[in-house]
Amino acid sequence: MSYDVTLILGDGIGPEVINATKLILDSCPIKFNWDIVEAGESSIKKYGTPLPQNVIDSINRNKIALKGPVTTPIGTGFKSVNVTLRQTFDLYANIRPVKTIAGVPSKYDNVNLIIVRENSEDLYKGIEHMVGDDAAESIKIITRKASERIVDFAFNLAVKEKRKKVTSVHKANIMKCTDGLFLNCSRKVAQNYPEIVYEEMIVDAMSMKLVMSPEKYDVLVMPNLYGDILSDLAAGLVGGLGMVPGANIGNDIAIFEPVHGSAPDIAGQNKANPTAAILSSVMMLRYLGELDIADSIENALNLVLKQEEYKTFDMGGNTGTIEFAKAVIKELK
Ligand code: ATP
Repeated sequence: MSYDVTLILGDGIGPEVINATKLILDSCPIKFNWDIVEAGESSIKKYGTPLPQNVIDSINRNKIALKGPVTTPIGTGFKSVNVTLRQTFDLYANIRPVKTIAGVPSKYDNVNLIIVRENSEDLYKGIEHMVGDDAAESIKIITRKASERIVDFAFNLAVKEKRKKVTSVHKANIMKCTDGLFLNCSRKVAQNYPEIVYEEMIVDAMSMKLVMSPEKYDVLVMPNLYGDILSDLAAGLVGGLGMVPGANIGNDIAIFEPVHGSAPDIAGQNKANPTAAILSSVMMLRYLGELDIADSIENALNLVLKQEEYKTFDMGGNTGTIEFAKAVIKELK
C-alpha cells in the first residue's frame, strides 16, 4: 500500500520532530510518497507569504497532511497559518488525546482524556477592529451548525472509542448568547446518545478540576479558545507539550500535528521530544486504516519511553531527537 501525504516541516523544532517521525514512518512496511512543502516563517522570506498556494494545492490533492508547528510572526499582518489551514479546509474537529504514558515523569498517573476542540469559529475567526485609538473589539462567532457538528463528533468519538462520558465546557453564565447557544446544542445532541453520560462544566471550574482530579474526565468538548487553553493545561498533566498529539479533521481532509508550538528556545539543538509528532503520525495511520502499523509504532514508542536511557531534555534526560527516533525504530524491528 502507498500513500501520498503532504509534509510540512514547520518552524523552530518542527523540522527536527517531523524528520524524526518521517524516519520512523519510512522504516515501516508501507510506502509514503512525501510531498514536502514549506509554510511559516521561512516561506515569508522566500514567497512573501507564510502560506503559499502550493501548500493549499498539495493538501487539496493528497487530502492528508502531517505538519510541524508553524509560527506566524506577531505584528507582520499575516493571518495565522494554522487558523487559515483549519478554516480553508473546514477542518472543524481538533482532537487531542491526553494520556499518561508509563516512564514519562508527571505528577499524575491515571490521565486518559480526549479534548475535542471546535476548530472553525469562536474568537479565532479573527474578526477584530479598533474603535478609535483606545479601544478594540473582537467578535465571537458561535453557530448552531458548527456547535452541533462538533458535539456530535465528540459523542460519536466517545461511542467509537468505548468512552463513558462527554463533558461540555462553556462559560454560558457570562456569555449567555454565544456559549448559551453552544450549551443548548450540546444538550440537544446529548439526547441522541443515551448510552453516554453527559455533563456540563464552566471553563474556569474545569481548569481547577483538571488539575485536581484529571482521572475523572473522559471526552471533553468545547469551543475553540477554551480548547486551545485547556489543551496546554492538559499537556501539563502528562509530562508537557512534547507528549500530546493532535488531529484536525474535516469531511474529507485531515491534518495531523503535535499540540506544541515551535519552541524557539530549544530549536536547532536536537533537544526536542518527538513523541507528540510521532503520536500524531500514529493518529494519521489509524485514520488511514493502518491499524496494525499504528499499534506497532505506539508500542515501540511506549517501550522506549519506559527506558531510563532514552529521556529527552523535557523528561530530564539528554537523548537527542534523532537518537530517540532511532531507538523507536530499533524497538520496531
Ligand atoms: P504556540 O503559541 O506556537 O502554540 P506555545 O505557546 O504553545 O506555542 P510552545 O512553542 O509549544 O509554546 O512551547 C512552550 C515550551 O514548551 C517551549 O518553550 C519548550 O520549552 C516546551 N516544549 C514544547 N514542545 C516541546 C517538545 N516537543 N519537546 C520539548 N519541549 C517542548
